[in-house]
Amino acid sequence: MSHKCNSCEKEFDTYESMKQHAEAAHSSGQPATQSSQPRAAIKIPWYVPVLIVIIIAIAAFVILRPSAPQQTTTGPSVPIGEQADYWTAPFPFGNDPRLHWHAYPSFKICGEDKTMLQVMAMAGVRFGPSGMVGPETLHVHEGEPWFHIESPPPTRKSITLANAFKGLNIKFSNNGILKYQGTSGCNDNKTNSLKVSVGSEQVEDPENLVLQGGQKILIDYS
Ligand SMILES: [Zn+2]
Ligand SMILES: [Zn+2]
Repeated sequence: MSHKCNSCEKEFDTYESMKQHAEAAHSSGQPATQSSQPRAAIKIPWYVPVLIVIIIAIAAFVILRPSAPQQTTTGPSVPIGEQADYWTAPFPFGNDPRLHWHAYPSFKICGEDKTMLQVMAMAGVRFGPSGMVGPETLHVHEGEPWFHIESPPPTRKSITLANAFKGLNIKFSNNGILKYQGTSGCNDNKTNSLKVSVGSEQVEDPENLVLQGGQKILIDYS
């Protein structure tokens, strides 16, 4: 007795061999597609490993980043003026002859607000016929209560706050300004001192503060 394949009419001795043939040669492919579909569903796009690496890198950066500022906060025990890299740091404006900056000092002396021009008057500074006082690098114009930085300055050290006052012949150091010096310059039975801040940040070493364009400097002796 022979068994005929329904699809190609080939004959086989046993039912089993016919069935094997039919499955191998004429299978509708359903079992194959059924098994290939789930495989397609769990196929991982090429970019998934890349995304995982990027996410790990960002996470590592965020976790490790706070350690950097902690290292720098341990530094400033050395006065700024004694830190070599403060003076050798790249001069931020190079040798541009068109450089023209304004830095804006304001004063509070023993509780009283004073402008740059008032402080100059207190020191007896007079404007000459040119209408300006101080060297070309760092000077003040008549009627303008701020520093002009021009020329350009040769080094960072040439435009410190101490140098600015020196050029105007105004007594100034970390110890005080004008006749307001030491710990009792206000004569108010309090311990007085000079505090200088730029924006909201207190300056550690006011003498060596390097002036910059647009800088707002509060000089407070109280
Ligand atoms: Zn100017
Ligand atoms: Zn000028």
